[in-house]
Amino acid sequence: MSDLVLRSPLSGWALPLEDVPDEVFAAKMMGDGLAIDPLDGTLIAPCDGTLTAVPESAHAVTIRAANEAELLLHVGIDTVNLKGAGFTVLVRAGQSVRAGEPLIRFDLDRLARSARSLITPIIVTQPERFRIVDRHETGRLRAGERLMSLRDMGDAAASVTDDPAGTAIAGILVVPLPHGLHARPAALVVQSLRNLRAEVTLSLRNRSVNARSPVALLSLGARQGDRLDLRATGPDANQVQAAMERALERALSLGGDARLPLASSMVPRVAASGELSGTAATAGLALGQAVRVARREPSVAESGQGARLELQHLDDARERLRRRLVRLAPPDDGARASIVGAHLEFLDDPELLESARKSIAEGKSAGFAWRAAVREAARALESLEDDHLAARVDDLRDLELQVLEALAGTAEPTAIQLPERAILIARDLLPSQFLALDASRIAGVCTVSRAATSHVAILAGALGLPMLTGVDAELLEIADGTSLLLDADRGRLKIAPGPREIDDAGKRIAERARSLARLLTAATFDCRTADGERIEVFANVGSIAEAAAAVASGAEGCGLLRTEFLFLDRAEAPDAREQTRQYQQVVDAFAGRPVVVRTLDAGSDKALPFLAMPPQDNPALGLRGIRASLWRPDLLRAQIAAILAVRPADRCRILLPMVNEIEEIQAVRQLVAEIATGVRGNARIAVGIMIETPASAINAARLALHADFFSIGTNDLTQYVLAVDRTHPLLAAGLDALHPAVLRLIAEVCSAAGAAGRPVAVCGGLASDPAAAAILVGLGVGELSAVPAMIPAVKDAVRRRTLLQCRDLAAEALELDSAAAVRALVAEHQARMTS
Ligand code: PEP
Ligand code: MG
Repeated sequence: MSDLVLRSPLSGWALPLEDVPDEVFAAKMMGDGLAIDPLDGTLIAPCDGTLTAVPESAHAVTIRAANEAELLLHVGIDTVNLKGAGFTVLVRAGQSVRAGEPLIRFDLDRLARSARSLITPIIVTQPERFRIVDRHETGRLRAGERLMSLRDMGDAAASVTDDPAGTAIAGILVVPLPHGLHARPAALVVQSLRNLRAEVTLSLRNRSVNARSPVALLSLGARQGDRLDLRATGPDANQVQAAMERALERALSLGGDARLPLASSMVPRVAASGELSGTAATAGLALGQAVRVARREPSVAESGQGARLELQHLDDARERLRRRLVRLAPPDDGARASIVGAHLEFLDDPELLESARKSIAEGKSAGFAWRAAVREAARALESLEDDHLAARVDDLRDLELQVLEALAGTAEPTAIQLPERAILIARDLLPSQFLALDASRIAGVCTVSRAATSHVAILAGALGLPMLTGVDAELLEIADGTSLLLDADRGRLKIAPGPREIDDAGKRIAERARSLARLLTAATFDCRTADGERIEVFANVGSIAEAAAAVASGAEGCGLLRTEFLFLDRAEAPDAREQTRQYQQVVDAFAGRPVVVRTLDAGSDKALPFLAMPPQDNPALGLRGIRASLWRPDLLRAQIAAILAVRPADRCRILLPMVNEIEEIQAVRQLVAEIATGVRGNARIAVGIMIETPASAINAARLALHADFFSIGTNDLTQYVLAVDRTHPLLAAGLDALHPAVLRLIAEVCSAAGAAGRPVAVCGGLASDPAAAAILVGLGVGELSAVPAMIPAVKDAVRRRTLLQCRDLAAEALELDSAAAVRALVAEHQARMTS
């Protein structure tokens, strides 16, 4: 067969490959060839062939000639970073081209200013098969002139895996490179396999390629964050994943990607300076430095070493993880506990375990079996297309990783040493990654992922950290250590802010701290309206730690102890004695102030591992709150006994969630009467009910004859009045309890309770909203129970108006048509008061 003649694709100066200012090309890791320093800006086809890859960045093309020789034409060095700026691509992948046909035009001047080098490697990527038999020596040449000839040496060199038998592994390779798997990293990946005896394929989006072919790798078009399915068979298969991961790490550190020093002209402008926007998941302002947090994917061997051993590995790993989770989030820590509770729940999920054990019995390794079981469960949830369940998919993904890391024996899998004032930047963050970090060093969080309601957003909110989600993917190009100004209030992230911006932000942060300190001091006093009407401001708590924080924030009592949060991690129901111990600690923390203990509000969005519910198609309308407690009277009994045993005996009040019926209150009173004598408790303990359903609000006058007090749960009341799921990822953010329909019901509840001489509290989220405080007081609410952090601001809002002003405002609000109109009214009043 005759040699293939390649024509020069550019006019310019020919150079040996060794002179290319790039380690990967110069060391011939991509293959043999030569380079051209171009003198004009048109790249033409060097031979007839088919274009196998034309990346979006348009800085390179690959061509397969009729004899199967594969060529890479790579315009300049590190030009992938320009993301196509200065390039015009004239062809598309898959197209046939003739020798001499223009492929790419590029702006020579522009590239000369912005690229590290214009030297263009022309590479034959299968040097084992195609030998260069003559090549142009250094010197000037014109586009279309003869450049070199290739001789086909046959397929002999292609088989590196003379023994494809042996181990088979399957894994996931995540592309960490901001510019994806472009030529240089592809070369390093191929190079990493040189001495390994294994057949290796990588697959993405239903395309599988031979991982030993750089061109084939490029044709995957893999972008940062893409997860490539890796399969390897052969005697060295076990080493393949680690080798490839090292190659990708090396590519990252070699540069050409955003990890290059920021001074380099190659770093995209936006990564060095500029501003990105996103959606505030939690408000606030922070100055700090970038710390990138990447997702990790431990490798997993497919075959096990015997079922008994693998089962043992899985159980040991689960046990190690269980201990770690409990340590990470002690049960007295509200937000953490609820998230970790979900993970603990999945860890013992019988279906997951059964599926994993089945695979192990079929010869798979513990890691492979666990991963397959979790992914199958995640796929099943995803296929239901229920947004609420999608959040559980995140939990599953998180748990998959944690168990795999525990299997790999990593003690503290995701711990990163953070500098002071770290602003975390990530595509997305798993709760376990966040929880493993030293929270005292985190100043803020930014993610590309849009899951504003995700668990990490909840954790960040609980810590008062500003967080932006849905930030442009350029976020991931910011180098570690870059100075950042995160202004979540305005949905902005400023990269490398100037001295004046830093100064201004510093002043704003200091001013916030001062006004917070002022409010905090004022919050230690009882709350009254401007004309002296006493309004109690209590706290909602879900843990002992929160109880202490509440008192420090000026809480005059606990208006809602969410007891279900205290026991999220329990596989077994806590007995009465243990419950008493916990309640007693909360009561002690409140040091003489009243504590309203709500009976377990299990079901719907609050799953308790020890309270297995029958399957429910619509849990928000199913067994939950008091219905669940009456369905399991043994648990309710223990809980009432526990509350009655707290001392002093007059300190607690009982609050029942989701009450609709008078019989529900009577059933609890009956239990109190039965149990009080046995534990020498207070038989006349106050028993109040939550108003959370339209029925209870409408029937408030009747219920008031049986309940000692009302506490309005505006979270549930609003979801049921407006028929909008409060956990819905798309709709929940628009759910506003200041909707006039909700306010009218609150007004009715207050007037019914007033007629019966019963006090009314609000303990739903609306009580934590300073904009709502005056309206609620004006409607007749006498107690606001807020999250501890909002108590100072809520007290401040109440103190600014007289009772009459509050009533006028409430009366005006009741006449409006929408929550937005109510908010506008409050803002307008506020502006009038401050002008
Ligand atoms: C409410 O529904 O407003 C409430 C306080 O209860 P939870 O948020 O715990 O359901
Ligand atoms: Mg509720």
